[in-house]
Amino acid sequence: GPLNEKQSEFMRHICSASGNMNELVHNLLELPKMDIGPIAKQETVDMNDLAAEVKDEFQPKAEAKGQVLQLRKAGDQAKVQGYPLQLQQAIRNLVDNAIKYTPEGGLITLSLEARNHQVSIKVQDSGPGIPPEDLPFIFDRFYRVDNADTKNIEGNGLGLAIAKSIIEQHGGEVSILSEPGKGSSFTCTIPLARVTEHPNADTNLSIQSNSDLP
Ligand code: ADP
Repeated sequence: GPLNEKQSEFMRHICSASGNMNELVHNLLELPKMDIGPIAKQETVDMNDLAAEVKDEFQPKAEAKGQVLQLRKAGDQAKVQGYPLQLQQAIRNLVDNAIKYTPEGGLITLSLEARNHQVSIKVQDSGPGIPPEDLPFIFDRFYRVDNADTKNIEGNGLGLAIAKSIIEQHGGEVSILSEPGKGSSFTCTIPLARVTEHPNADTNLSIQSNSDLP
């Protein structure tokens, strides 16, 4: 119904505060795209090592839910060029979700594979899965599935948007395969850093990202 003057004033405050919050989140999501100068330099990041760190970090959380968290490293070199802390954050968000949404006793597998100049990092769980009608929106900011499986699980709908933003900033992509009752599988693919030889010095090697190449 019609709002009185006080209610209208509250509405203006609410709209303005949510506008500011949206702006804040937008800026946070844009952070990976900025050059954050001397504190964060692009480095060669071994995704096998990074995944092992994430596994160690989340092991206690998985154990507390009686879940098995397993890691399958890539057999080949899995090095990319990028920001280690941000890449770690992206993988953390996916593993955190897998543990959070998978019921007690479930299985979560973090597996890596390096081929075709790319490394893929897959986080697969035996959780409730995501209904097909929600899949197109799952990486949108603030989007949360609203059903019986998720209603008692807390979150803000930002973890996947942040993970996607970081992976895309590294020239990669994130994809999802999920079916209700059959678990979910999130895969990040990132171009491998390529070891190239300097033309006139065969002992002098450098690493370059495929995404930098023409
Ligand atoms: P949050 O977990 O904080 O709500 P996310 O952006 O990380 O936000 O995830 C968005 C939504 O996607 C979640 O609210 C949940 O409904 C769904 N989701 C994400 N990961 C999984 C998963 N592994 N299994 C089932 N649902 C998931």
